[in-house]
Amino acid sequence: MSPIVIAAHGGAGRLGLRQVKYPARKKYEDGIADALEVGQKILLKGGSALQSVTETVAVLEDNELFNAGRGAAICSDGTVELSASVMRGSDRAVGAMVGLKRTKNPVRAAKSILGHSHVLLFGPKADRYADSKGLDMVPSTYFYTKRRRRQWERIRDSDTSVLDHSDDEPQGTVGAVARDRRGNLAAATSTGGLVNQLAGRVGDTPIIGAGTWADNKTCAVSATGKGDAFARVSFARRVADLIELGNYSLMDAGLFALEEVRAVKGQGGCIAIDSDGVLAMPFITEHMVRGWVVGKGRPTVAILPDEMIVKTQ
Ligand code: ASP
Repeated sequence: MSPIVIAAHGGAGRLGLRQVKYPARKKYEDGIADALEVGQKILLKGGSALQSVTETVAVLEDNELFNAGRGAAICSDGTVELSASVMRGSDRAVGAMVGLKRTKNPVRAAKSILGHSHVLLFGPKADRYADSKGLDMVPSTYFYTKRRRRQWERIRDSDTSVLDHSDDEPQGTVGAVARDRRGNLAAATSTGGLVNQLAGRVGDTPIIGAGTWADNKTCAVSATGKGDAFARVSFARRVADLIELGNYSLMDAGLFALEEVRAVKGQGGCIAIDSDGVLAMPFITEHMVRGWVVGKGRPTVAILPDEMIVKTQ
C-alpha cells in the first residue's frame, strides 16, 4: 500500500516582508495546516484522493485569507466570479465550473459534474446545476470582505489586473494534490482570478490541462500564478507530458514548464505529486504558500523557496 500524501497551496507571488515573518505568517500556516488535516483524515480513513483534494480546497475556500470562495478577488466591474476544477487520475474524469456567483464552495460544484458526460459549466446555469445537486448556496455578498474591497478600490480605475500575491496583504488562489492508499492521484484548484480582472475573464484554474491535471501514469498538478500565461503553455498537461514522453523527473518537468510560463511573461508555481510518491513544489516567484503531509505525520508549511521537493517513500 502507498503512503497517503496530500499537498496544498495558497498561491504564488511576492508576499510583503511583514507577511513572511511571524506573527503574520502564522495565519497562512494555520490556514494551510487546517485544510491539510481535513484531507489527511479522509485519506487515512481509506477515502479517495479526489474526495481529499476537494474537501481540502473547500476548507481553503471557506477561509477568507485565500483567493477562493469567501475572500476571493474582485473583478473590474465590482463582482466576484469564482472558478474551480478537479481531476481524478485513475480515469481522467474531470469537472470544472466557471463564473459562479452563488455556490459557496466552487470546488464541490466542480466535483458535482465529474462523472457527467459534460466536463465544464459556466455562469448562472452552473450555479443552478450546483444548487440542483444540493450544494450550499449563498448570496453573492457572502464572498466579499473588507480587505478585498479596499484592495480593489486601490486599483479599480487603473486598467490593470494583478496577481493577488503582489499585493501587500496577499490572499492566494488555492489548490491541492493527493495520492490515496490505492495509489490513485487527484488534483483540485479554485480561484477568484486576478484582482481587477476584466469581468468575464477565465484564467487557467478551470481549464483542465492548464491549471489542473491528474493522471495516475504520470502526476497530479495544481498551478497558481498569472493564469493567462499558464493557459498559453498548457502548463499542467505539459508537466505530465514531459514526464511521460520526455522522461523528465517531476521537479525538472515542473521547472521546465515554468520557464515556458516565464517566456510568455508569466510567473507562478505549482504543487505536483507523481506516481512514485515524489512531491515537487517548484515556483518562479519569490514565494509560494504551500504545505504537505505524509501518512499520519503533521503538516509542514513553507513559503520561501527552500523546500521545493519532498520524497514521501
Ligand atoms: N491562476 C489564477 C488566475 O490566473 C490566479 C492565481 O493563481 O492567483 O486566475
